[in-house]
Amino acid sequence: MRLHGTMSINAEGRLTIGGCDTAGLVAEFGTPLYVFDEELIRQNCRAYRAAFMQDERIQGEVIYASKAFMTKAMARIIQEEGLGLDVVSGGELYTALEAGFDPARIYFHGNNKSPAELEMALAAGIGYFVVDNFTELHLLNGLAGERGVKASILLRITPGVEAHTHEYIQTGQIDSKFGSAISTGQALAIVEEALQLPHIDLKGLHCHIGSQIFELESYRYTVQVMLDFLAELRSRLGFTAEILNLGGGFGIYYAEGDEPASIAAYGQLVRESVLAGCEERDLPLPRLVVEPGRSIIGPAGTTLYTVGSVKEIPGVRTYIAVDGGMGDNPRPALYQSRYSALLANKADQPAEIVVSVAGKYCESGDMLIWDLAVPRTEPGDILAVFCTGAYNYSMAMNYNRVPRPAAVLVKDGQADLIIRRESYADLVQNDVIPERLKK
Ligand SMILES: *Cc1c(COP(=O)(O)O)cnc(C)c1O
Repeated sequence: MRLHGTMSINAEGRLTIGGCDTAGLVAEFGTPLYVFDEELIRQNCRAYRAAFMQDERIQGEVIYASKAFMTKAMARIIQEEGLGLDVVSGGELYTALEAGFDPARIYFHGNNKSPAELEMALAAGIGYFVVDNFTELHLLNGLAGERGVKASILLRITPGVEAHTHEYIQTGQIDSKFGSAISTGQALAIVEEALQLPHIDLKGLHCHIGSQIFELESYRYTVQVMLDFLAELRSRLGFTAEILNLGGGFGIYYAEGDEPASIAAYGQLVRESVLAGCEERDLPLPRLVVEPGRSIIGPAGTTLYTVGSVKEIPGVRTYIAVDGGMGDNPRPALYQSRYSALLANKADQPAEIVVSVAGKYCESGDMLIWDLAVPRTEPGDILAVFCTGAYNYSMAMNYNRVPRPAAVLVKDGQADLIIRRESYADLVQNDVIPERLKK
């Protein structure tokens, strides 16, 4: 069993995270509970800084993709670690601003930002808009004009590279809801258009080729495609990009078989590809931006559940059901994602049986883990599911009117609440009974 970050097993045989006994966390905060390892979050941020921001030959910037996990406390940690921030909605932007995040270091993504969202971001004075399409480009130009400002933008480009976990595919990929494809000429057209608009300041290009990527070569290839396009923009339009944003997507270990490279190796490959590629094409070096989400927060999150019913179907399978499931972690149901886990209160005991972990939601697809080897299991045991930091809380929902869990930040034996557990009262707070139903 692979432990992550500051995890260890104490003398009582129980899993600890950030020096906190998981049984103690459960007693104090209840389950399900998201536990975030502050030390590991910071280590990951520092690994990214070291990998992208400390090469004297090329300027780098790392911005955290907040859609992976965003709360006010998280925004504070990211700011303290010197990273910038990606937001994809008014809600994420609002959270960042409420936390006091420096707006100048915020990039705003999304393929359908509303006028209200664009207004909000202009009013806040965010750093960059990553503009997806012509509609948005004109809308933003108009709104910036009304304010008498110029909006700094990157254009989202579809490079025709689709990365999958262990491979990448060179596609003419035209059929995407995101960005403008190079292959159709649309990318060139939108750059030309942006350069002509009076309230738009085109700073560079953006691309994002996928998520949970293990194959570093896919990044090398993407750099080449983007630099070829930059060379074309220079020769045809005389345009030189200040910024090249290569998106996020770097993969992490979830379960047996996942073998990500190190963040250092990822950084080195990308830096070297950009340096060599610019030299070959005689292009000035752009500022290199990357946008990791999952690889900063994923491994730093663990979900603790209490085991409830244990159901053995003789000769078939043993199900153990926990007090959460697809509501707090929709990924297995959405993407067949795999997770690893252990019984936190029996962390030193050898596995004796194989069980499948079911959630409590009314959906047969609500299974968290198939075929997990564990010690003998009984109701009341604590199950710790690893690497739930990314796209769990941020995708959590209230299906079945189950309140969403609390989250704590642990460090050096201290646990602090960063998200309060939802109450039943929270669940009905926006419900309205029309007068005619009150009679
Ligand atoms: C989702 C996303 C990211 C982050 O992806 P991860 O897989 O979490 O690293 C970065 N940039 C853009 C544009 C994204 O949509």
